[in-house]
Amino acid sequence: MGYTNLELAGYKEGKIGNVDMMEFKKMVDDAGLKITSSHVNPPVREYTKDNRSQIAEYWKKTADDHAKLGVKYLIQPGQPSTRSTEETLFVCEIFNEAGKIVKAAGIPFGYHNHEMEFAKVNPGGTESKLGRRVKGDCIYELFLKNTDPSLVFFEMDVYWAVMGQQDPVEWLKKYPNRIKVLHIKDRAILGESGMMNFENIFRQAYANGIKDYFVELEGMPDGRSQFEGVKGCVDYLLKAPFVK
Ligand code: MG
Repeated sequence: MGYTNLELAGYKEGKIGNVDMMEFKKMVDDAGLKITSSHVNPPVREYTKDNRSQIAEYWKKTADDHAKLGVKYLIQPGQPSTRSTEETLFVCEIFNEAGKIVKAAGIPFGYHNHEMEFAKVNPGGTESKLGRRVKGDCIYELFLKNTDPSLVFFEMDVYWAVMGQQDPVEWLKKYPNRIKVLHIKDRAILGESGMMNFENIFRQAYANGIKDYFVELEGMPDGRSQFEGVKGCVDYLLKAPFVK
């Protein structure tokens, strides 16, 4: 089809799906592809002082396994619980810790967003809320400002940023040194919804020096198969004059 690199989603305790990870790597190698990145989530969503060491142990084992796979990035795609400013800042502490552990295995640690990172929180708050008129601190901005750039980078999912009522290009302009990888995603096949300005996104990504991006297709809503979707996405990019 034209794809060359993979970002995995499905690692668990030394396996990718039901396949031993080294066997999976061989299948990928044999297909002429390369595993560049992997999405993994710690076993808990609520970060507390009590499970801090459990999270650290998870990252140690997961990072060691991914060093064997030879990935370039290890990325957390799941948003931990962030109901208040304090909880969000504690999550940043844990992200820094994860970054340190993953870096020790020779891999940069990244965070991937959905839409609720663009919700806002307040000191002492009990829930995060999305909306232009909502007052408070944007969770994504708190993540960016309170994580160590030498330990945590960001993989921006441009579709979920739009779903979070954001312009991904603005974020790319504001944080060119923190957002290093992109998820190029639309509601289904790239370019079909009319919601996404991929030309502006690619132009800014190149200006920022971004080299790696992944097409993501979460599902096909209209009865077409996942393979048709994956092919439709790469065909869109191969034809797009703004993609180098
Ligand atoms: Mg994504």
